[in-house]
Amino acid sequence: MGAMEDLCVTECTRCPALVDSRSRIVNGGGPEDADLLFVGEGPGANEDEQGEPFVGRSGTVLDDGLRNVGLERGDIRITNCVRCRPPENRDPKKDELANCRGYLEREIASLDPEVIVTLGKVPSEHLLERSVAVTKEAGDLAEVRIDGTPRRLLICVHPAATLYDRSQEETFENALQRAADLAGVADSEGGQSRLDGF
Ligand code: URA
Repeated sequence: MGAMEDLCVTECTRCPALVDSRSRIVNGGGPEDADLLFVGEGPGANEDEQGEPFVGRSGTVLDDGLRNVGLERGDIRITNCVRCRPPENRDPKKDELANCRGYLEREIASLDPEVIVTLGKVPSEHLLERSVAVTKEAGDLAEVRIDGTPRRLLICVHPAATLYDRSQEETFENALQRAADLAGVADSEGGQSRLDGF
């Protein structure tokens, strides 16, 4: 069993409302040595059903965006601030974020990514511990200490934002392009791209 599987949460009852609303705990997915860690807000209905992060419409937008910058889902690790689906897809509450924080910190420490990409306001504010104007700050790289270790964090809009507001598509793509650049994705002449070292 790999280190990351050891970190899978199999039982947790810290958040009564989420225990009621979830049908399962949704752990992070993807390689245990990925250079990029994408962090979303929390599972939605599809993720709760399938037990994997970003498998619904937002996941399709993310997959398309990744492909456009020469990345694939299999190249990245992806997780959420909270691992259980909030009722009616509401935002996770402060205490719920705090309850799940240790799991996220352990995942970050184990992966030790080159860059953490926060998808939307909730993960950006949670990890930067300040208010964030995501649309304005998308594509910005920040330095942040997480559990005492300095980390590079790239702010990105949530993939679902592009569905509500087409003008966010470019913002989303530009941030993903920056993530790919930081991860060392080489764009070859033929339009084929891959991660360095893979
Ligand atoms: N939105 C998120 O923030 N996370 C998911 O896993 C799915 C949709």
